[in-house]
Amino acid sequence: MFSLNTKSTTNTNKTNMSSLTIPPTIVNSTQPEIEQFTLFVNKLIQADQFHQGYIRSCVRGNRNTDIVFYNIEGNYRFCPRKGTHHQRNTIAILIDTKELTYTIRCKDIDCDNRSLIWKMIDE
Ligand SMILES: [Zn+2]
Repeated sequence: MFSLNTKSTTNTNKTNMSSLTIPPTIVNSTQPEIEQFTLFVNKLIQADQFHQGYIRSCVRGNRNTDIVFYNIEGNYRFCPRKGTHHQRNTIAILIDTKELTYTIRCKDIDCDNRSLIWKMIDE
């Protein structure tokens, strides 16, 4: 465990780019609770033989703990805004483990990802 070096003031400073940073609660993607979602993500990012990705890390949202973030690396860079793959950015796949929905969040600063398009997870 590591201690967070935050000052205990009730200062809620809304930092500008914070929506792009990933909450640091790393979870084990093979734990039974989220294993099915990991399998789903793996299926999604390996469906296209020309754009094979892999899960680099898996973290749980600290604001909404129902959300699990899968940080994707490799060649899977599909952007819902663009409708196709980017050349060089990375994406994260967010799973809402309660609603059973998912979305792809592109990390390209040119793409406005404040409004995400959520889809149902179909097995
Ligand atoms: Zn994009």
